[in-house]
Amino acid sequence: MIALGGNPVMNAEKQTRDDKFYFSDGNMTILVSNILFRVHQHVLARDGSTFETMFSAKKDAHEGPDCFKEEGEDDEHPIQLFDDDINQFRDLLWSLYALPQEIAVAMSSKHDAAKLANVACMAHKYNFVTTETWALKGILSCLRDKTVLDPLSTQDLVQITQAASLSQDVHLLDIVRKIWKGSIMEGRDLGATLVATERLGMADLVGLAYHAILLQGRQFWEEDPSLTREQRIRLLSGYLTLAEFCDDLPDNAPSFQHGPSCWDTDECNERWMELWKLINSPDPAYGIGIQALRHHKLDILGRARMAVSIMVAVVSRSFPGRGDYGRTRELVEDFVCSERALDATTAFSRQLQSGMLDFFPEVK
Ligand SMILES: [Zn+2]
Repeated sequence: MIALGGNPVMNAEKQTRDDKFYFSDGNMTILVSNILFRVHQHVLARDGSTFETMFSAKKDAHEGPDCFKEEGEDDEHPIQLFDDDINQFRDLLWSLYALPQEIAVAMSSKHDAAKLANVACMAHKYNFVTTETWALKGILSCLRDKTVLDPLSTQDLVQITQAASLSQDVHLLDIVRKIWKGSIMEGRDLGATLVATERLGMADLVGLAYHAILLQGRQFWEEDPSLTREQRIRLLSGYLTLAEFCDDLPDNAPSFQHGPSCWDTDECNERWMELWKLINSPDPAYGIGIQALRHHKLDILGRARMAVSIMVAVVSRSFPGRGDYGRTRELVEDFVCSERALDATTAFSRQLQSGMLDFFPEVK
């Protein structure tokens, strides 16, 4: 929000001048929080920004007798930007005043994606059209250059997600979602991730974060200081819902439409139900999935991914690769609808991923 009117601001004694963006030859004073910026009107009015409209409106309003100080004229009469974050505003000014060398560094692999995200957010807010596009492009190139050894911090990821959401940049949002998912799978910063994704309204990621925290065990979620009491209650209720779902998993094979060459659909259904049970049984002497990789009993996402892998092997006839799976081998042989069963398994796994939050309903 921008303050209108030329009245002196209150508590002027608490204000300080910004170290970098208070130019003695500037002609426009702006106050954000308690920091005064003295900048050049023509710089802020570039790129079709809303500052341009504001400055021309101000000029029209003040034509005629000079009965009071013009807003922005000096430290006592600054333009006040009430809702802006001080660091985000600084980063916007950085982008408007940057030297060629600074721009080059910003677009290189060493640049700071969070800084560019701040620029994108502010450029969006004040309608610096090409600056916003430039910043979003810079974020993308930064994310491409990020390595496993140098992951983004949760806070940086939050800022980038905010920029992507504001600009409704579908491509960037897609990439950001993948980074969040990877981070959750690695169990990084889970409490803060849950809080942040809830605030950003990304329901699928909130569900994944709840699931990952649940697998860490009760002690973890009781001790994580970032979790609220309500979130802990949701974890507890999710635990119960998920435990029941996981117990029933071997008996609930996802259904599919049989193919045209399937001449005995009842036999095919029975075959599939038995194979599904073998894949998903929690019994190590019996379950193929658990023999391949032992997942936490409630790691429904890991177990579903394992089911997909096994079905991929079934369809590509690379199953069983080794050992003697006896009955499984019989079921896999001549399984006419195996591809349809794989598609149903993949859809089941994806639905679990996107709808995980349904297991953690709000507790009234
Ligand atoms: Zn069939």
